[in-house]
Amino acid sequence: CGIFAYLNYCVSRTRKEIFETLVKGLQRLEYRGYDSAGIAVDGDKNTTTDGINNNIIVLIKKNGKVKALDEELYKKDCMDLEVELDTHFGMAHTRWATHGEPSALNSHPHRSDKNNEFVVIHNGIITNYKELKKYLNSKGYEFESETDTEVIPKLIKYVYDNREREDLSFSTLVERVIQQLVRSPLLIGVRSKYELSAEHIPIQYNTGDRSQNIAMFKEGVQEKNSHNRPDIANAVNSAEDGKAVEYYFASDASAIIEHTNKVIYLEDDDIAAVVGGKLSLHRLNRLAGEVPVRAIQTLQME
Ligand code: GLU
Repeated sequence: CGIFAYLNYCVSRTRKEIFETLVKGLQRLEYRGYDSAGIAVDGDKNTTTDGINNNIIVLIKKNGKVKALDEELYKKDCMDLEVELDTHFGMAHTRWATHGEPSALNSHPHRSDKNNEFVVIHNGIITNYKELKKYLNSKGYEFESETDTEVIPKLIKYVYDNREREDLSFSTLVERVIQQLVRSPLLIGVRSKYELSAEHIPIQYNTGDRSQNIAMFKEGVQEKNSHNRPDIANAVNSAEDGKAVEYYFASDASAIIEHTNKVIYLEDDDIAAVVGGKLSLHRLNRLAGEVPVRAIQTLQME
């Protein structure tokens, strides 16, 4: 299974180009094995057809091969293919079902609620998902799939809804949720439509104030070569003036090499978050005063 995601602040692209980027990213990860696939993209701003609000995140999921998903993308008549987006994101996932049969509904991304306020892609297993699901059900959070994964976006929403007046940074929100998960090594991607704050910024680029955000977490890997093995996580494309314009995340460098050869390999227990155009790194259960610094490496791959 594989994860591919990106966030772009400067280069405008049509939705058709965005779809192509995501599908290509997934195709590069196909060798990892999977049974279904799905994506999350920005919806059209200012459209209010049934169920689509301003700037909502749209999910498109399909059972079967990436090719089947690709065909599905162009069937959605609610999505304007020619629309140009200047700030945009995309998240894509190929699933290897462990909990819940392979189906469109069970494939990723999974969402926090009908407004898609938080969407999540995940590789790995959540062992205590039944207990979490029961708890969240009792708090009124409704589930729509049979997966273990779906507890992640629901729990994010629950923690967010119950933050009271605290200014919860995106990384801290993700960290609090991960701390509740009994899990196998995991790689998750989270996208939120909220403006959330950031913290811990050893690698910093100024791109102005944007509300787009995305976070990625990589967990310790025990089994090398298992299909869950997340290799890489992050890549940065900078403009000539040194400002980052695009961030890519992938479970394997082969999915991003065509976009950039500048990569940051996440270490186990790293949470990488892009908030307001800036990439920050945060450690799960970090020690006081710990500031993670990761080098930007240059890939030698073709
Ligand atoms: N356990 C999750 C599921 O069954 C994720 C599987 C994967 O790593 O693709 O949906």
